[in-house]
Amino acid sequence: MNVIDLHVHTTASDGTMSPAELVRYAKGKGLRTIAITDHDTIEGIEEGLQEGSKRGLEVIPGVELSVDYSNGTMHLLGYYIDITCTELTDKLMVLQQARAERNLKMIDKLRALGMEIDLAEVATVAEHGQIGRPHFAQAMVKKGYVQNIPDAFDRYLRKGGPAYMEKFRLSAEEAIHVIRTAGGVTVLAHPFTLNQPQPHEFDAVIGELKQRGLEGIEVHYPEHSEGQKKLYRDVAQQYGLLITGGSDFHGLTKDAIDLGEGYGDGELTHTIVEDMKSRRETRRKGP
Ligand code: AMP
Ligand code: ZN
Ligand code: FE
Ligand code: FE
Repeated sequence: MNVIDLHVHTTASDGTMSPAELVRYAKGKGLRTIAITDHDTIEGIEEGLQEGSKRGLEVIPGVELSVDYSNGTMHLLGYYIDITCTELTDKLMVLQQARAERNLKMIDKLRALGMEIDLAEVATVAEHGQIGRPHFAQAMVKKGYVQNIPDAFDRYLRKGGPAYMEKFRLSAEEAIHVIRTAGGVTVLAHPFTLNQPQPHEFDAVIGELKQRGLEGIEVHYPEHSEGQKKLYRDVAQQYGLLITGGSDFHGLTKDAIDLGEGYGDGELTHTIVEDMKSRRETRRKGP
């Protein structure tokens, strides 16, 4: 159990707890700080901040952006973003539009594969949140086309799978720029998904991202092995980057993962939050 969790999803994207529920859950588990990092949306932030101040839990406004990366999957986390920044909200709108178009194409693919699913059914699963692949997976389970969510991804929805559809993504450079414009700190999420196990290759990717403004690496993550953590930590130190971590809690759609757990017991202290804040402060006072 850690007292901070810097990677958490809500019903605003594909988590199953509303921002307010999540804050209460975190408080009940004894956490001190959480960062709300929904995919391509900041719709959950205000509710989370409000409930956080009511319950005495620190909530960091964040976002998780999927960026263009051919070797694997690259996600960038933005922390302490100003959610009123129009450059940020405009970019998010573009991403949401792209997602909406992708979702329609995925419905076509599922139908072509013989699955009678329409967008309204997927939207029902997502309730009022933004629709993502986990909602497709849930709709497929509901209709009996697959056993469970992992089965839906393995057989159909995974990147390159028969029902998968690419969507427009920002470049890493654009994503870092927009996070920075909104006053945020950019951290590379779950680096294992980059598929760069060779130290020199990983080092090269980080070197380039750092030049573009990357400020941290999510070293602590449930799916990272000790060896991976060591590599990510070493490279972070070498480049003077922040070492962060989180559970990527989604609630019931990823039910093996619990909030504040699974990423190295007690390894993350509140100091990391203070470091992130002071980086941001120094930058603001700077020339
Ligand atoms: P989307 O943003 O709509 O492309 O969906 C991304 C979401 O799908 C992320 O939250 C992931 O947690 C989830 N996801 C991606 N790949 C898998 C997988 N193989 N199994 C389960 N969930 C996955
Ligand atoms: Zn997700
Ligand atoms: Fe991610
Ligand atoms: Fe995530």
